[in-house]
Amino acid sequence: MRFSKRVSSIAPSPTLGITAKAKEMQAKGIDIIGFGAGEPDFDTPANIKEAAKKAVDAGFTKYTPTSGIPELKRAICKKLKRDNDLDYMQEEILVSCGAKHSIFNAILALCDGGDEVILPSPYWVSYPEMIKLAGANLVVIKTTQQNNFKITPEQLRDSITPRTKLVILNSPSNPTGMVYTKEELRPLAEILVEAGICCISDEIYEKIIYDGREHVSIASLNPEMKGLTIVVNGVSKSYSMTGWRIGYAAGPREIIQVMSNLQDHSTSNPTSISQKAALEALEGPQESAGEMVRAFAERRNYIVERLNSIRGISCLMPEGAFYAFPDVSQILGKRHGGQTIKDSISLTELLLTESRVAVVPGAVFGDDNHLRLSYATSMENIAKGMDRIEEFMNKIG
Ligand SMILES: *Cc1c(COP(=O)(O)O)cnc(C)c1O
Repeated sequence: MRFSKRVSSIAPSPTLGITAKAKEMQAKGIDIIGFGAGEPDFDTPANIKEAAKKAVDAGFTKYTPTSGIPELKRAICKKLKRDNDLDYMQEEILVSCGAKHSIFNAILALCDGGDEVILPSPYWVSYPEMIKLAGANLVVIKTTQQNNFKITPEQLRDSITPRTKLVILNSPSNPTGMVYTKEELRPLAEILVEAGICCISDEIYEKIIYDGREHVSIASLNPEMKGLTIVVNGVSKSYSMTGWRIGYAAGPREIIQVMSNLQDHSTSNPTSISQKAALEALEGPQESAGEMVRAFAERRNYIVERLNSIRGISCLMPEGAFYAFPDVSQILGKRHGGQTIKDSISLTELLLTESRVAVVPGAVFGDDNHLRLSYATSMENIAKGMDRIEEFMNKIG
């Protein structure tokens, strides 16, 4: 069978691939410490599950409006006002099957073949593939640990051409954990407004933020920027609801309308039951989200301290999300057990087979000098995993 050029250009999700390999080894009875997870390890809060059960019992199991039930859209508008100082009307909200789905719809709604999309690296793995699917061209702005993985106004200005359509920002960032401040966003917004370039602002880790930092949505800086921005958020990460598949987009009415048309003829509405659960997540008690973040903060401090104490590794303190993104460039090119560790992928493979630790190679995020370790796992696992990585690194010649 011959497949379309469109799908032949995209790769399977590499993070899911490594998780699968680790699971396979686990199934054979090998004890693997997993740092690959892209989701909170906490259960969905009980009040949210209860709301879903109620929805089932009440027979709320039929099609809903494609773009989401009005009460959930109202709750999203309230949330955007309360947390982000953003005023949206219901017609400016689209509820999707996860934030990923909202981003996909937005890219497809905005980009034609040959358009350019600016993407800061390291980037979340799905963005480049979505851009390719839309037939658009990827323009990567490289950031490094030295500049805290943040793009500068000069870099942004230099990347813009007459074909530039869109820039994708993700703060707090997966995989780097970095958070843009208002002062850092302001000059970026000025450039985008001046050039009339749209922005997808992926704010899915908004609530997972540390040390009293404040999440700022670029859309909140001024009305012109708001008019160019599609704010994307959801309940997956904040409320430990990855499997429920509810995310949303907020933006100018016209783009939300075309994104909704796209959804009309592809997925239709996100699951009715999950929408009721998401409503409870946004409107119900918020304590469990806070408890989760406190647990993440404690693990973050521990894992970063351990990583920095290992020879050849240096790691920034993440400001948000639940990933450590250590620099392992000093280890690349060295030898382990007769093999040369040539890149982040071979280091990842060796860590899995030799030390039974699953991490994600930086190469999949567009940065071969790093690894990504999710600390959405227990302290006990983190301690054991760090012991193993330390032992591995001490054997490197
Ligand atoms: C997890 C994740 C998403 C997707 O979230 P869903 O709502 O589960 O689709 C989007 N962006 C980033 C950066 C993520 O890490």
